[in-house]
Amino acid sequence: MTIRGQDIASVIKRQIEEFGGELTLVDVGTVVEAADGVARIHGLSDVRSMELLQFPGDTLGMALNLEEDSVSAVILGGFSHIKEGDEVRSTGRIVEVPVGDALVGRVVDPLGRPLDGKGPVNTSETRPVEQIAPNVVSRKSVDTPLQFGVKIVDGLIPVGRGQRELIIGDRNTGKTSLCLDAIINQKGGDVTCVYVAIGQKASKVAATVATLEQHGAMDHTIVISSAASDPAPVQYLAPYTGATIAEHIMYSGRDALIVYDDLTKHAWAYRQMSLLLRRPPGREAYPGDVFYLHSRLLERSARMNDENGGGSSTALPIIETQAGDLSAYVPTNVISITDGQIYLQPELFTAGIRPALDTGLSVSRVGSAAQTKGMKGVAGRLRLEMAQFREIATFAQFGTDDLDSSTRAQLERGRRATEVLKQVELNPLSMEQQVTIFYLLTSGALDDVAQENILAFESGWHEYAAANIPDVLGEIASSGDLSDEAGKKLDEAAAAYKQTAGL
Ligand code: ATP
Ligand code: MG
Repeated sequence: MTIRGQDIASVIKRQIEEFGGELTLVDVGTVVEAADGVARIHGLSDVRSMELLQFPGDTLGMALNLEEDSVSAVILGGFSHIKEGDEVRSTGRIVEVPVGDALVGRVVDPLGRPLDGKGPVNTSETRPVEQIAPNVVSRKSVDTPLQFGVKIVDGLIPVGRGQRELIIGDRNTGKTSLCLDAIINQKGGDVTCVYVAIGQKASKVAATVATLEQHGAMDHTIVISSAASDPAPVQYLAPYTGATIAEHIMYSGRDALIVYDDLTKHAWAYRQMSLLLRRPPGREAYPGDVFYLHSRLLERSARMNDENGGGSSTALPIIETQAGDLSAYVPTNVISITDGQIYLQPELFTAGIRPALDTGLSVSRVGSAAQTKGMKGVAGRLRLEMAQFREIATFAQFGTDDLDSSTRAQLERGRRATEVLKQVELNPLSMEQQVTIFYLLTSGALDDVAQENILAFESGWHEYAAANIPDVLGEIASSGDLSDEAGKKLDEAAAAYKQTAGL
């Protein structure tokens, strides 16, 4: 077959005429060095910080260090196949994740890809993971309670919607359980929860999801999971993904609760990533901006004012301490960023006082603004009694023989209060139930109940109250207040209950 020059010319001409596709310019670079999940890339002159990069084999990366003649990127996922000479393309997109209601009930990875085998997440909405936090003018102060359903928290260290409350303590002191209580307690309410697992064992995350499912809490919860086996950059991204999803809920005028479990591991992941990127190490080998890492994350939780929809995002970051050392670098950072901390103490935990909340070292800087009127009334007295008890208890351990009667009464009251504040995990109580038991405690109705019978008294009491005085409970629930009349009815009911229970 012979090809004539004329034919070729006409083919080329036709192709030029038909060429209508828009030109897309893709920035392409070459990997010059790849190790430990970090790649140094030559080229990519127009890439932006935190832009998604496409590596061979559907692997994504994130550009981080933009240097004069190269770009360093972290690889989000498996990195063993990436080698020198590989082609890298920029995508023009800053790292973004899917957001929206389709995520509720799902378990996803930090890039929003499903991990629960329930098929794709059906949402077309996305948001970049790095966002500027809402400014002060668009916020308002915290005034609505976010009920944990845990007596010691709702009573003594109340948390409000839009607040950032740190949960801090050693290993195995009930940090996760306390947050799960808070999530489970939102069942049937208007708060959507986001649980971010950072660097935990995959089995532990699976157990957490199973617990939430058992208690019907996955219907209002989204889980972001990055396991300990995931590369550091994936773990680094997880809390920002969670914050972005929670923020979307907040900006749509609704309420979100986000748990970061935990930020200690997040700081470790960031340290590892930064050292591999050759950023200069500072104190405890963390990069200099580890404070900024957490402050820009937690600042994104806020309570918006009414002009801006009135939504909120409440943050519960968790920090694990070593041997109770609250003054280590990362713990002090996060303490100073948040609006208070709940300190869980290993000694209390082993002594069986659970939740092991240290009432002396825990604070909520929002305070009683985040309590209903009824709760404020009873909890104010309780707080005072607990403070007095702590003081007396220290010297009472040397003997109580020479104490005057009023001091002894305070001591007895404090011991009963300690019993009342115990609560088993995953068993949240409603606000009205809490108000009634605090009322009985502070009004002295429990003074003649032996200390060892308090727990039995309480569990029976809630059943008795539900069956016999549902109107009083209903009134406290709807008005948020405890009237004198309701108080009288509680006194009567308590006396009758003591008779029947023989306590
Ligand atoms: P880690 O440091 O491993 O993350 P953690 O501080 O999150 O631990 P949890 O896992 O919440 O602690 O709880 C540790 C153990 O204590 C669990 O077995 C849990 O069942 C138990 N526990 C937690 N809270 C209570 C409680 N209020 N009453 C009884 N047991 C509890
Ligand atoms: Mg935990």
